Amino acid sequence: MSRTAATRVEETLDVVNPATGELITTVPATSEQDVARAAERAYEVFADGAWAGRSPRERATVLLRLADLMECDAGTLARLDCEDAGKPITECRTGDVPAAIESIRWFAEAADKVFGRLAPTGHDSLGLVSREPVGVAAAILPWNYPLAMAAWKVGPALAAGNSLLLKPAEATPRSTLRLAALAAEAGLPDGVLTVLTGHGTVTGAALGRDPLVRALSFTGSTATGRRVLAGAAASNFKRVCLEMGGKSPQILMPDALEYGDELIGHMIEAAFLTMGQNCTAGSRVLVHHGIAEEVLERFTAAARQLTVGDPADPRTRVGPLISRAAFDRVAGAVDAARSAGAHIHTGGLPHGLPAYGAYYPPTVVSRAPADSDVLTKELFGPVVTVQTFTSEEEAVRLANATEYGLAASVWTRDLDTAFRLARGVEAGVVSINSYSEGDITTPFGGWKQSGFGGAEKSTDAFAQWTRQKTVWIRTR
Ligand code: ADP
Repeated sequence: MSRTAATRVEETLDVVNPATGELITTVPATSEQDVARAAERAYEVFADGAWAGRSPRERATVLLRLADLMECDAGTLARLDCEDAGKPITECRTGDVPAAIESIRWFAEAADKVFGRLAPTGHDSLGLVSREPVGVAAAILPWNYPLAMAAWKVGPALAAGNSLLLKPAEATPRSTLRLAALAAEAGLPDGVLTVLTGHGTVTGAALGRDPLVRALSFTGSTATGRRVLAGAAASNFKRVCLEMGGKSPQILMPDALEYGDELIGHMIEAAFLTMGQNCTAGSRVLVHHGIAEEVLERFTAAARQLTVGDPADPRTRVGPLISRAAFDRVAGAVDAARSAGAHIHTGGLPHGLPAYGAYYPPTVVSRAPADSDVLTKELFGPVVTVQTFTSEEEAVRLANATEYGLAASVWTRDLDTAFRLARGVEAGVVSINSYSEGDITTPFGGWKQSGFGGAEKSTDAFAQWTRQKTVWIRTR
């Protein structure tokens, strides 16, 4: 393969288990030229009609078969994400894999239920408005929810009739490759779903610039999202949908403790799921000063109870971070906050941890200075800050004091207060008395610098993967 100097990379990419340091496998590092060839092939297949030309019902049948195959393969799919990402196996089994199967099944069932419109014209004409596939679509995936994010994109993109190029994150390609193999087994025609493993700066960037790709859905960091958007602007103005970072608040009103252990359990999940490497992590607790002391005490005690250890062990709640670099970033921000006068509450790490992984203990930070990184930056680690407020207005002001706007949760028994806060908080998803992103029926997308260009999940997701056409018919 010939390459220009600008795109020269190693031809393979190592996949290393972040919990053991073992080399799991190597996968191809797809070059810019290979991306271009894959896009050409995807376009040929689209134009052929082997998938796009089949009825939505037929497409649904294949995708339902895929969901069934995933169910049979659930154990392996969970293990692949656990090993590649260091995610606790129990989380993969009970969270990621069922969510992925549900997404494929739900969008399969929706394939033949998205109707067009008939415009209110006069009697001398008919205005038909339909949703058409974009042709060649692409998705760039993150490493924190590898299979689940693949399925959020594969479901609607394929149900709508597109050919899809799928680029997994460097660290976590195997569940995506497995998903594509199962799709082939389910009867998806060759070339409709192509997995392009590789480096973000080469393979991902090439997808962003490719002239045949008409829609690109990206989930990852805000900095990379900006580059993807620039690639689209510099090439063919492909439609870009960006799902990016967050610094989401959990707002606890004075009556929140009436929810007792349920509240603490949701707070723990919000803060520490996937070791806090989660774009919707509730990484900022905003608590009314009247209950702050008790909340801090109970929340910190619960954080200390979390079992830290080998992610392959079903009892583990907190595994290692994805990399040593991630550890340094998280530890650096916490150390800086400590030096600036913040209180750091942590249980430390247990004895007997595997020697290799970048383990960081669940950590709660109080009294952090307003400009400290722990309060302002998305740390992507098991670190949560606690701030107090005395009025509802102050709670909203603190909640919105960030450039992110992905998610928020509000805890109160008072319906009026809950709705006022839900309205006041700048976030795409607000959950009341729970930590939740809703389910597959509700749209997911961020505000401000957390999101751009559309939503995932729900029938709204089809807007990402289709384009609208008007057919005007003159009648006599
Ligand atoms: P992180 O910094 O946590 O690794 P990224 O946002 O960089 O998160 O990664 C998310 C996805 O974006 C990955 O699949 C990665 O390979 C890809 N990516 C990284 N850099 C680029 C880029 N310049 N253009 C397109 N995709 C990229």
